[in-house]
Amino acid sequence: MATKILLDESRLPDRWYNVVPDLPAPPPPPLHPGTREPLGPDDLAPLFPADLIAQEVTADRFVEIPEEVREVYRLWRPTPLIRAHRLERALGTPARIYVKYEGGSPSGSHKPNTAVPQAFYNARQGVRRLTTETGAGQWGSALSFACAQFDLDCEVWMVRASYDQKPYRRSMMELFGARVHASPSPLTASGAKVLADDPDSPGSLGIAISEAVESAAPDDTRYALGSVLNHVLMHQTVIGEEALEQLAMVDDTPDLIVGCTGGGSNFAGLAFPFLREKLRGRMDPEIRAVEPEACPSFTRGRYAYDFGDTAGLTPLLKMHTLGHDFVPDPIHAGGLRYHGMAPLLSHIYDLGLFGAEAKAQRECFEAGVLFARTEGIVPAPEPTHALAAAVEEARRCVETGEPKVILTALCGHGHLDMAAYDRFLSGRMEDHALPQSRLDEALTTLP
Ligand SMILES: *Cc1c(COP(=O)(O)O)cnc(C)c1O
Repeated sequence: MATKILLDESRLPDRWYNVVPDLPAPPPPPLHPGTREPLGPDDLAPLFPADLIAQEVTADRFVEIPEEVREVYRLWRPTPLIRAHRLERALGTPARIYVKYEGGSPSGSHKPNTAVPQAFYNARQGVRRLTTETGAGQWGSALSFACAQFDLDCEVWMVRASYDQKPYRRSMMELFGARVHASPSPLTASGAKVLADDPDSPGSLGIAISEAVESAAPDDTRYALGSVLNHVLMHQTVIGEEALEQLAMVDDTPDLIVGCTGGGSNFAGLAFPFLREKLRGRMDPEIRAVEPEACPSFTRGRYAYDFGDTAGLTPLLKMHTLGHDFVPDPIHAGGLRYHGMAPLLSHIYDLGLFGAEAKAQRECFEAGVLFARTEGIVPAPEPTHALAAAVEEARRCVETGEPKVILTALCGHGHLDMAAYDRFLSGRMEDHALPQSRLDEALTTLP
């Protein structure tokens, strides 16, 4: 009975998977915020390098991973698939629980899977500097690492609340060579405007995106986004491609795939290769996204065109959104506090090809602590949402006696989230109910 299902380094995937050509209908295009016409490649050129724009709209089913990127991937990939025997035993469940562990990467999450190719394509085009935003600090540290690999400058706007609460994430970014600003900052027009209205603003991902996009104006500078966009989701499919092979090695197929969703990239990365197999009739897993009750884009948002940021600088994206002005309560899963959801996932959800549920944070931390005590890995607060759903299903299997195969992505470790675990363990963590009136209000400003 294998505990860790390991792929040999030679089995590192050599191509990313693009789910779009396998879908029954194409996703709605992003729109220009001024003209409301579908966006052309020229509209994106000030923000992204040509290779990434091409990947954003490609009709190819597979895209080759450049050897320079695979070389960096090899620092931590292929990642282990863990059969959580000890968790199963603690639950007394007949279910088999598999966890694809992405916490062994340089920054401790799945984010370097896309940060590395993004830095590579920018550097190859002659870009000298990348700007970005970060919420909990996971994306900022991943991009800082990636920029160090390809000799790029990196400038990060970090949501003020996290900047104050997670000083070690800032240290990690600086260690990798980045410059970090608390957002809102006085350095940009959009940040200065927020500060003028509210000097004590805790910031939000939407505000930080506005600042990073604004700062990408110089010719030698581009912007990088850690989730939401098609090319980001595609880069993350290395997770699912490896997991598919690893499950085949132990002759198992999943009955349920669960993943946490902030912008949707780790969930899509795990689920898309399995969705491909499902659409081809080779397996029939239930696929389910798990989001926080405090930021429920799939389960309570509206499927509509909205801005990706607060200031309205980004293209209009058709997505499940809570409104670009929505500022979620300060839950500890900072990476899940985004008002929107990846347009590609939103489209696939709308087609009915997967489901979604929302979970309150105390149930999630309970699952996180159980996982740490049984399996010895402290999960980041974000993937505890998926773990909570896996544990709930495994408990259901105790009742029904069904030996379901459950697969989830443990997309990051929580070593820098101890303050959150402290709060939970000392009984000071609260659940944040979200009244309908707050959602209604935020949705009034949809463009
Ligand atoms: C960023 C992050 C998330 C949320 O982003 P997705 O694009 O939804 O994956 C979840 N978990 C961790 C550990 C993260 O760093």
